[in-house]
Amino acid sequence: MSRRDIGQAAARLPRKDRAGRVGLVGAGAVVAFEALWLVLGLPAGALVSDLGAITVAGWAGVACVGAARRHPVPLRRFWLLLAATMALSLAGRALWTSQRLLGESLPHTLPIGLIFAASLLTGTGALLCWVTAPRTTVGRLRTLLDGVIVGLALIPIGWLLIFRNVTMADLDEPLRTAGLLYPMFDLMQLTILVAVVGPGRPAGRPMALLGVSLTVRAIADAVYVSLVAAGTYQLGTPVDVLWPLSYLLIVVATRMSPPQYDDGAEEASDVPLPPWWRVVLPYLPVAGAIVATMLARDASGHTPLPIFLAMMALLATLALRQGLAANENLRLVARLRQLAYVDQLTGLPNRLAFIRRLRGALRGANRVAVLLLDLDGFKQVNDRFGHTTGDTLLSGLSRRMRRAVGDDGMIARIGGDEFAVLVTGGRPATPERLAERLLAALQPSPGEELVGVHPSASIGIAEYGPQHISHTDLLRDADIAMYAAKAAGKSAYRRSTQALRESAVSRAELIADLRRAVDEEQLHLEFQPIVDLATGVVRSAEALVRWRHPRLGVLSPARFLPLAEETGLILPIDRWVIHEACRAAATWQERGPSATVAVNIAAAHLRRPDLIATVTEATAGAGLAPRALTLELTESALIEGSDAVLDRLSQLRELGIRIAIDDFGTGYSSLSYLHRIPATELKIDRSFVARIPEDTRAYATVEMVTRLAGAFNLGVVAEGVETERQHDAVAAIGCVQGQGYRYGRPAALAELRSVLAKSGPSGVTDVAESGLTLT
Ligand code: C2E
Ligand code: MG
Ligand code: MG
Repeated sequence: MSRRDIGQAAARLPRKDRAGRVGLVGAGAVVAFEALWLVLGLPAGALVSDLGAITVAGWAGVACVGAARRHPVPLRRFWLLLAATMALSLAGRALWTSQRLLGESLPHTLPIGLIFAASLLTGTGALLCWVTAPRTTVGRLRTLLDGVIVGLALIPIGWLLIFRNVTMADLDEPLRTAGLLYPMFDLMQLTILVAVVGPGRPAGRPMALLGVSLTVRAIADAVYVSLVAAGTYQLGTPVDVLWPLSYLLIVVATRMSPPQYDDGAEEASDVPLPPWWRVVLPYLPVAGAIVATMLARDASGHTPLPIFLAMMALLATLALRQGLAANENLRLVARLRQLAYVDQLTGLPNRLAFIRRLRGALRGANRVAVLLLDLDGFKQVNDRFGHTTGDTLLSGLSRRMRRAVGDDGMIARIGGDEFAVLVTGGRPATPERLAERLLAALQPSPGEELVGVHPSASIGIAEYGPQHISHTDLLRDADIAMYAAKAAGKSAYRRSTQALRESAVSRAELIADLRRAVDEEQLHLEFQPIVDLATGVVRSAEALVRWRHPRLGVLSPARFLPLAEETGLILPIDRWVIHEACRAAATWQERGPSATVAVNIAAAHLRRPDLIATVTEATAGAGLAPRALTLELTESALIEGSDAVLDRLSQLRELGIRIAIDDFGTGYSSLSYLHRIPATELKIDRSFVARIPEDTRAYATVEMVTRLAGAFNLGVVAEGVETERQHDAVAAIGCVQGQGYRYGRPAALAELRSVLAKSGPSGVTDVAESGLTLT
């Protein structure tokens, strides 16, 4: 049965609890009767007061026993101890009454003192048994000490306020003095009650009523003590009714349901921390006690003995409490460390611990190797058999791995199914040897049945000599190697190499990022002018795509287009480029009505039947004449082209779209394909142009291609013209157009438009003569 059930069970009082109700009403009536009697000052007030207290205390004891029987085990002890307390109160009061009747005025005798001390113990014990009280012995002791500290601290304060004017002679015997310490014990118990009523947790109505009862008793005791000290106390005055009233409140408490209390909530993290004032509460009276001790010195400067003794006891208690706290702190620190650095499932060091050790090792002068191990197929185990099975498997496997590593390294669990081994220099086993041992350890041994599924592992190794490398880089390298091992098949290990690093650093990441690039508008175009070599007029502009990567900055096409082609992402990218380029060209039509835009098309796109639709949509959508758009295709793309591709190109040509063969001269240029392809221009690759002034063979190639173009009635563009000499050379050879840094670098659209404005609309008339329009 959980505590919640207990709470609910206890909440149900027997429906026919007639005796209980009658008892409560009876006790209430007794208190009311006594109050009336005493207030009216009717005769024999003392006797009425004694009998009243005895009756109500007795009934409270019975009610507590009833509650103990009704309530389940954890609360039973609380009610029984409270019943004992009431019984002791009854006994004490009965003894008191009999001794008083025998003639003593205020019979503070030894038996009464002992009974009182016993009730003090049972009452305090009851408080510490409440459901919200600390569960551990240390916790209870701490709570108790807090109460004792408050009680002791109240002695000097009480002395200063009440007893100072009373000479010891008036308090004829020590026992009488002890009797005067009642309020101190009350406050001690109240402090314990406050501490027990845990912060934030509902402590329940019984505890609240008990608190009120204790407060009433404290007031009664304080009034009693001050009256006695002043020598004006009279038995049978209205003050006396406060004691039975405090017992009556306990009778009421027995009829309240205990708090709804859940065992789970006791987990340390769920219990809210106490507010600061609650923590310092026991120490506030200590400050008061110190002040009171100084003020309580008599004329000759001596501290009265009781105060001296109380302060000594207080000091001792404080020391004990401090010792307890220090010890608890040590245990807490140890526990925190264990929580922070140890994986709770496997007991292995966790990621944090591993990284600390790794960083420490990297600061040293030795070689450091990291093995990163990932369990293949562990996720499936979790999915198929549930997390409990997964956890069992994981802790079993981790034990085997720990054994396999032995003293040759430090193994840690750094993620769900990821483990890492740190190997520092001077260990006999090489990382490779360790990897083999680990893989062997993970093999299911014959006859062993784990859970039907046995995950294998992939291990990546990264090792560095005594050189500067950050732990993140080392782990990343191991990670790359681990993925290479995974790619190589299950149960394998790989060592990180330069080549692996380069190919993998951001490959996977880049692909993932690229998928979002189009949607998130991270792509943009730059335009590079293509000019008429003779006049310098801008004839066209090539649209070149750029990727503004959120972390890596602007990336060139060389960096991401190969990935795009591999993954097919090139299609949406090219589609976007075509649309964007057409829109851009439309904006410069009034500046240079004949200036065209050139767009690069990937080979993959050429194979797509929807290329034509894409292109016509883009031109129509932008309001651009088809003849203002040039598609640039590389030789290789054209060579591998099938008849369908050639058909498609012809259709594009029929629409008026122009086709350029890009990077001409770098592929398997063959005259036969030049015949078949309906191109409108050739772009001579910049590798020839770059060498042209010095290299006669390059010069001859450019010359030949230019002639060839003339023969096939194609336009020619010399690509990559950077210098004046290159310009002069290609112009002398007879190239009509040029593109390159000499005329302008790829730049934003606005820049191109200003260049167009400068070169003027004269371009319009030149077009026909230039031979560029070959339709
Ligand atoms: P490409 O079509 O041959 O484009 C010309 C490349 O040469 C551009 O490089 C350009 O910046 C560069 N370039 C121009 N003038 C000079 C010069 O004087 N000296 C030197 N050294 N280089 C010059 P970029 O922009 O890096 O583009 C590289 C390639 O990426 C392009 O070669 C093209 O094949 C491809 N590409 C660019 N944008 C796209 C696109 O939107 N779609 C497709 N499928 N491919 C594209
Ligand atoms: Mg191009
Ligand atoms: Mg090119």
